[in-house]
Amino acid sequence: MNQNSQNCSRQQLWLQMRLQYTEFDRSIEDFTREIGVRCPEGCGVCCTGTYEPEVTSVEAEYAARYILDVRKDLEQRFTLLEDRSYCIFYDESTPLHCMIYEARPIICRGFGFSGYTDKNGKFIYRPCRHMVFTPLEKTETGPLLSAYQSQYLLEYRHKQPISEAIAAAWQKLLYYRSMEEGR
Ligand code: SF4
Repeated sequence: MNQNSQNCSRQQLWLQMRLQYTEFDRSIEDFTREIGVRCPEGCGVCCTGTYEPEVTSVEAEYAARYILDVRKDLEQRFTLLEDRSYCIFYDESTPLHCMIYEARPIICRGFGFSGYTDKNGKFIYRPCRHMVFTPLEKTETGPLLSAYQSQYLLEYRHKQPISEAIAAAWQKLLYYRSMEEGR
């Protein structure tokens, strides 16, 4: 595949991901409204815990492209990579706590607000243990994180912690762009 067609398929993939992210966010909004679950005020434990979630290279590229095109000021965050204690995009001082909120990966969107299906296909909700959770009624359906993850895992199995994955993807996109500019 030449550079042009690679760029084209990458753009199509990102577009498809944006639609899927939007669809997933909507299903989370509906679910959240239905069962009345929310994060505790000011909590950021899921971003600052000892385990940094892992993401696929395609999700990392999506976030890296956002940094390159929309939030160039965030490029300096990559200098924190080696000495980080948690995700380099966590920001306690902002309401949403995430500097790449619009482009954050699926795991960041669905953690605590989604579930899985058991061997009988029954939906099982998996809340975060820090959540304020008083369900109004038992829920039969809800957002399935695995359904979205599997779409990206099919072709892109390799996973890395979020900060490292996005840094690697950012380097890769920078390289591609420099190649394009040099042509
Ligand atoms: S990308 Fe954003 S939401 Fe995800 S772990 Fe990092 S700070 Fe948290």
